[in-house]
Amino acid sequence: QNTINKIAAGEVIERPAAVVKELIENAIDAGANAITTEIKEGGISFIRITDNGNGILKEDIKTAFLRHATSKIKTVEDLLSVSSLGFRGEALASIAAVSQVELVTKTSNELTGIRYIIEGGEEKSYEEIGCPNGTTFLIRNLFYNTPARRKFLKSPNTEASMIGDLITRLSVSHPDISFKFINNNKIKLHTSGNGKLKDIVYNVYGRDISAHLLEVNGRTEEYEITGYIAKPIVTRGNRDYENYFINGRYVKSSIISRAIEDAFKPFIMLHRYPFAALHFRIDSDLIDVNVHPTKMELRFKNGNEMYHFTYSILSQILAGKELIPDVS
Ligand code: ADP
Ligand code: MG
Repeated sequence: QNTINKIAAGEVIERPAAVVKELIENAIDAGANAITTEIKEGGISFIRITDNGNGILKEDIKTAFLRHATSKIKTVEDLLSVSSLGFRGEALASIAAVSQVELVTKTSNELTGIRYIIEGGEEKSYEEIGCPNGTTFLIRNLFYNTPARRKFLKSPNTEASMIGDLITRLSVSHPDISFKFINNNKIKLHTSGNGKLKDIVYNVYGRDISAHLLEVNGRTEEYEITGYIAKPIVTRGNRDYENYFINGRYVKSSIISRAIEDAFKPFIMLHRYPFAALHFRIDSDLIDVNVHPTKMELRFKNGNEMYHFTYSILSQILAGKELIPDVS
């Protein structure tokens, strides 16, 4: 049982950034509008995520750590609509199997909260304490009991920068949530949560991008796209500036990337990339999410339609804009 848990855990939890992703998505699902992430040593020795969301009911705390314990799906239809970010009930079980977890949580209806400690999947303590509403997860010593996995981690700096990238993308995907990221006691990112995507782009990417934003706004019966694109003065040699979200979920999709890049083709050199922060709303019948445990790569029922929708809206916006072409 324990071994199975540890192996399965590796599927979902490959590195500190995966822990952070799962915990932040849970906080978002819990309705938080302020989420603070603090890490040390690239998250390998220390990750603390605090939210002001609903908290976990006392009677639900222990079951939340069981595999396939999810409070979020009730039926198969729910699973397909994936209105919440989490839907498989594996994250907490997986994280707890390979680290030392301390959870402090309280709902607004209860007077006291609970501190729950679970290490390597084994419960260590459960006690009542006074604490604010919401949830804090402290994850120590990731992979302390699976040394083989620990060896695959990159340097703390590299792990930290992956976490930074992730939180950046999450903050762009949720302009109405205030995100704070602290690495080795230094504040690296703090967004206001005022709901304005433009402010976040300025905050996160600076003037080179935010001074050149073009607003995107288009819809058909089945697809909707809103957000911003830009051709930075200095274009990128990688896709770090391409952000897109489908129904609030950060995803990767070769179809969407290609549509964005094709629309920018007249303005940007080969192997250079534009900036995009795009939110798509798509009928859940048209997407298939359950492709990989980490839920990043989506499939579309009609990829061609998705491509043409995206490409035609972006190229209409770019048409007639006097963008300074890249010079080689
Ligand atoms: P999933 O998100 O797929 O449901 P998880 O293992 O990530 O599964 O979480 C298990 C359950 O624990 C969630 O369904 C939720 O009820 C509860 N939970 C986890 N994190 C939080 C949080 N930050 N605030 C409130 N509830 C939470
Ligand atoms: Mg989850």
